[in-house]
Amino acid sequence: MSFKKILGQDKAVSILKGFAASGRVPQAMIFSGPQGCGKAAAALEFAKTLNCLDGACQKQQDNCSVCVNCKHIENGTHPDIIFADFAYQAALEKSDPEERQALLEKTQSIKIITTRALTSASQQKAAFAKWKVYIIDRAETMERGAANSILKFIEEPPQNTVWILISCNKEKMYSTIRSRCQDIAFAPLPDDILLKILRDNFVEESIAKRAVRYAQGSSTKALKAAEILSDIAALPDGPAFTTAFALNLPKTLALSRVQVSFALEMLSCRTYEEWTKESSSRKEDLQNLLTKLVFYKKAITRNVSPAMVAEAALISAAQEGISLKN
Ligand SMILES: [Zn+2]
Repeated sequence: MSFKKILGQDKAVSILKGFAASGRVPQAMIFSGPQGCGKAAAALEFAKTLNCLDGACQKQQDNCSVCVNCKHIENGTHPDIIFADFAYQAALEKSDPEERQALLEKTQSIKIITTRALTSASQQKAAFAKWKVYIIDRAETMERGAANSILKFIEEPPQNTVWILISCNKEKMYSTIRSRCQDIAFAPLPDDILLKILRDNFVEESIAKRAVRYAQGSSTKALKAAEILSDIAALPDGPAFTTAFALNLPKTLALSRVQVSFALEMLSCRTYEEWTKESSSRKEDLQNLLTKLVFYKKAITRNVSPAMVAEAALISAAQEGISLKN
């Protein structure tokens, strides 16, 4: 597919192509920007471009997606290119698929077991890549020990080795890490590109247009909003909606939490939109609702039933005339 599939990130892509053309690649970079704007995909396209065996593609600082290096990188099977996310970490910790899934649902940080696997691989001779690339997703969640364990490796990596740290919240990363990395900024995606992504994922036009309102430049959020809007389309309007929404939540606690947490974000988005337009006394009521929604969001991370939080939040929002149904 090549860099062409990275939509709306011309500036970041042109910087990366410049590195590939000159061969002067920073030893460590932070790809920063909103969740779901193409950072991880760009990291993999960059790894492919550095290692592509197709001469014609190399001349255009792009990749062919079909040579042995490109294929292995795309399939996640290249021994010299590691994409370390929570799933990779869970696979290091648990071999049993069910235990791994249970662990994955609880995972909130990148641990030292993961960074050690990468640093150890980085010291091996490359199996068949020209450039070894180590990518850490959600790098802002790195635990202190994990962050410390990569410091000397990102500062002085072996030749032709690149570290890419992906983050949608780079301010939360340790300054010792940030100061050793070059920042590559990714922009929030504009609405027309988000709409294209939704259409490419077969989201119905009317749902797609509404979902974009909640996306804040993120394709992940746009797709999640579209999923929730499609799910609730068949539910009754009015007071019955609240209970129907709660009953319709996923049965597992982890999934139900994710669903309610995002629904609360959607309600906050709508409330904020109304708040900015309002100048009358209703402004204060909307302000109070925003505060309540923040409180409900915190409650979700504690031991409170997601269904109960959802009902309370939807009722509070409905009192201000705000509903996910319209
Ligand atoms: Zn290739």
